[in-house]
Amino acid sequence: MYEFSKTEQDYLKAIYQIQEKTNGLVGITELANYLKVAAPSATEMIKRLAKKGLVDHKKYYGVSLKTDGYQEARFIVKSHRIWETFLVEQAGYQIDEVHEEAENLEHASSRKLVERLYALMDFPKADPHGSEIPADRFWESSVIEINLSQGEIGHRYEVITISDEIGEFLMDLTLGQPKFITVIKILPDGSVIVKLDDETRFLIPNFQKTDWELKYYSH
Ligand SMILES: [Zn+2]
Repeated sequence: MYEFSKTEQDYLKAIYQIQEKTNGLVGITELANYLKVAAPSATEMIKRLAKKGLVDHKKYYGVSLKTDGYQEARFIVKSHRIWETFLVEQAGYQIDEVHEEAENLEHASSRKLVERLYALMDFPKADPHGSEIPADRFWESSVIEINLSQGEIGHRYEVITISDEIGEFLMDLTLGQPKFITVIKILPDGSVIVKLDDETRFLIPNFQKTDWELKYYSH
């Protein structure tokens, strides 16, 4: 389903990363310099990617990513940054040792593997260099939906829906709908203490039968 060569992935990633900084079309010369290849080979490769519908090439102006190319680039960037995070946090690497390893691992990892590692590390927001890890999900088969009251203490969940009752309750607290919450404690009366990513903690009363639905990535 996802048939990309290592070179294709490197080009898509390079365009993505240049655009992360500049936001405009990426010139062929700029791209060639970034990848340390000759301009004619960059032109050849861009033609190939354009034929596959992954990039848009406007002669004399430059290249941009189309939807499928953008998706693959985001995935490779996520794969790279997940591996760097994993190597530092779980495998005892120094920060300056991880980039080369991640350059290889990013291409060798399936979407499932990257998403499992992402869940295993509780959805890190940035890699050890401080670069943002894309929160997009590239593999969804391991998703389980549960209610807040079934939450596991200490686990961080993605919030998918909240009931009107809890929505109003949060509005009263001037909190919007949070994207992620961590379950801190479930009290005997069924109310739950949760924590937001910014460390704000609050108590959700036990509204009868109404609940938050949460997404849980099993691992
Ligand atoms: Zn790196």
